[in-house]
Amino acid sequence: MKINLYLQAASLCFYAIVLMQYLSSRRLPTRSNHIFGALIIVAGINLIFDVLTVYSLAYFDRLPIWLVRFGHQIFIGSMDVLIALLCLYVITIIRGGRALSPGKTLLVFTPLILSMFAVFFGKLYYKFEDGGFYSYGPMASTIYISIALYLLLSIYYLLRYRRAVAAHTRAIILIAIVCESTIALIQLFNPTMLISGLGITMMIVLLYSSLANPEKYTEAETGTINRIGLVTVLRDHLSIGKPFFVLTLCVDSWRDLESAFGQDFALRVMGKIATKLECLTSDRIYHPRGDCLCLICSNDESGTRKLAESILHALEGDLEIGGVGVSVSPRILVTDCPKHFSKAEDFLRSVGLFADGVVKAPEAITIYNDEYAKAVSRRISVEAILKHAVKNDGLTLVYQPIYSTSKRRFTSAEALVRIRDTQTVGFIPPDEFIAIAEQNGLIGELGRIVMEKSCRFVSSEAFKSMGLDYLEVNLSTLQCLNANLSEEFIELMESFGVSPKSLNFEITESAAMEKSEIMLKNLARLGEAGSSFSMDDYGTGYSNLSMMADMPYSIIKIDKSLIWPYFNDSSRLKVLLPSTVHMINSLGFEIVAEGVETQEQLDVLTEMGVEHIQGYFFSKPLPEEDFVKFVSDFSFSA
Ligand code: C2E
Ligand code: CA
Ligand code: CA
Repeated sequence: MKINLYLQAASLCFYAIVLMQYLSSRRLPTRSNHIFGALIIVAGINLIFDVLTVYSLAYFDRLPIWLVRFGHQIFIGSMDVLIALLCLYVITIIRGGRALSPGKTLLVFTPLILSMFAVFFGKLYYKFEDGGFYSYGPMASTIYISIALYLLLSIYYLLRYRRAVAAHTRAIILIAIVCESTIALIQLFNPTMLISGLGITMMIVLLYSSLANPEKYTEAETGTINRIGLVTVLRDHLSIGKPFFVLTLCVDSWRDLESAFGQDFALRVMGKIATKLECLTSDRIYHPRGDCLCLICSNDESGTRKLAESILHALEGDLEIGGVGVSVSPRILVTDCPKHFSKAEDFLRSVGLFADGVVKAPEAITIYNDEYAKAVSRRISVEAILKHAVKNDGLTLVYQPIYSTSKRRFTSAEALVRIRDTQTVGFIPPDEFIAIAEQNGLIGELGRIVMEKSCRFVSSEAFKSMGLDYLEVNLSTLQCLNANLSEEFIELMESFGVSPKSLNFEITESAAMEKSEIMLKNLARLGEAGSSFSMDDYGTGYSNLSMMADMPYSIIKIDKSLIWPYFNDSSRLKVLLPSTVHMINSLGFEIVAEGVETQEQLDVLTEMGVEHIQGYFFSKPLPEEDFVKFVSDFSFSA
């Protein structure tokens, strides 16, 4: 009898190509990919037995009947398993990797289990006609019912949860189902055609090329898996609920590298780090954002910590990239999932916060524990409260009087900003939200609000009635980098009819900060207009005398950290204060001593030659009305 195996041969060739690609690529370790792997294996068995059954019928007379039946059982049984797996694959993709409940899983497998009875015990007849041969009977018919049920179930899921998958994924699945259904129908009405293998191969090629192909998640430059790949795997792992650890490595100098040498170079740095990591672990490496790499670890916490330590060790020296030596000094965050994250998006947000350094993590390895989680959640809440306050007039100023020891009255005051909302997370210290405003760019707007409120107060009758010489307003050095700052401030003062002489700006210079042209121009312009400047926080390590040279300061504010030790007998820092006061005075600057809390401190500092005193001894910072009343009552009683 003539055997025609062209279709089977073509199917096997296509199948072999997909199989080779599949085996040579590194798949994402997700549930849907595991199912696809099983699908490929079963499809291979089915295609091979497709050919073998054709031969068994061609040599029907020479073979024992049980062998022919056995071959058909495997062929038909594997087809059944294959279509059930296809359905499960489709459901898993549609559910974004989430597993079905055990009850639903059993329901999905019921047609398979029932039809397996037919495969084991059902009758099968073999028919030989002029046009060819084929098998039929209850065993074969059951498979058609099973295939129909699984294809209908897949279509049901696709329609029911259509919003859960992207349009193109939906289209691919639908095309695969239509292909398989059409070929099954052709086969049903033309039993001698034997084209079932073609349907299976078409389906697999289609699904592999568009859904299961790992290439679309692979980043060519670094050989790592991109952000979408990470999200896919995280969602998959989180849906299973089994604990796992994620190790996030972050390179702080990445942005500098990118701006100095370009993005390609910065990516090569990450690629090089990824190669080093590959020597230490077999876990896949993910690249969720420029400066971060992630590993999903199969270890426990101590294993992950050890891995983190060996990574830091391996990255200690310079990395050699295109003849350039790059030192990366990375930081590592170890997160315990799903303990701290039940959603991939929340995890990625925490990676962002870690990489941006918004939550202080002083160690090279940070374990995401409850304490760190609390800090992250506080940071997120404070940032939200701050944004809301800046946009909705939620900021207010309090004022702390500054006393002149020579004039024996209050001659000025410092304006200090507060967030009105003290309910949501309680009182938020300004140090905390100012630092956040500096990180997220809100400092400019916040500073403008503070300036406007200060001008409004200074222009008020109440302020004038107190007879203060000026109001001190804090300026962040970041604000001073805005080229329009001086013009904006001068316009504001004009619009309120405030003389620039009535305002003194306090600036803390950060030692790490280079004085920019823009900053110096801003200060020069405000100085020309008549405003004066104070160096804030002298003695905290940030400001020192060498920094005064090209800044137009007239006042130096000595921080409490230099004042208090003088009144503590055991402190060795005692000696610093008298000499500092003497030196600043002889350089011709005025002094404000901050943090004065007792009569003794006031007396000693006055004696030492300090001109201005600020501190709780006189008053804590007060709301406007209380402040006006306090200063007026004080002058009255004096
Ligand atoms: P700073 O400029 O050094 O302000 C002085 C801080 O010391 C204020 O804290 C004040 O309440 C506190 N203080 C004053 N006297 C005493 C005292 O006798 N004992 C003690 N223990 N503390 C005293 P506050 O208001 O919490 O402000 C903290 C920091 O927040 C300020 O430090 C300043 O750096 C920043 N800040 C406050 N308002 C603004 C603002 O409007 N703009 C900017 N850029 N920063 C601001
Ligand atoms: Ca200040
Ligand atoms: Ca200060």
